[in-house]
Amino acid sequence: MALMQKILPCFHISSLYRTTMFPLLTVRHSTNYNASLQQEDDQPAQNLSNPYQKEKRCCVLCKYDVNVDYKNARLLSQFLSPFTGKVYERNITGLCKSKQKIVESEIIKAQNAGYLAIMLKKVEYFKDPKLCDPDRPVRPHRY
Ligand SMILES: [Zn+2]
Repeated sequence: MALMQKILPCFHISSLYRTTMFPLLTVRHSTNYNASLQQEDDQPAQNLSNPYQKEKRCCVLCKYDVNVDYKNARLLSQFLSPFTGKVYERNITGLCKSKQKIVESEIIKAQNAGYLAIMLKKVEYFKDPKLCDPDRPVRPHRY
């Protein structure tokens, strides 16, 4: 027994040394192997679109490329209040500055030409689908 106890520690140490050295070598080899494989896959991706870029805002008239004309009273009446006959502001219509300016000038032209009433909205246009809802404005009013 004493002989076995003297031999076994030596055996254990040598076996541990073997088992620990072997995995170290294999791990080292495997990392080198993986590193050589991942070099091609780990390259930074290029030509990707910016995910944080804001969406370009586009108003209804620009989106569908509508030509605003003073003779198109039905379209212009969509931007008028049915109670006062006044033009809704940009926070309600959601139009861009240039289109809002065009709509306002065309409404004045249409009122002068007699296509639109000044103080009210025509009854025929009351059931038209709403382009803008004053109860749910696009942006809150600045005041
Ligand atoms: Zn626009």
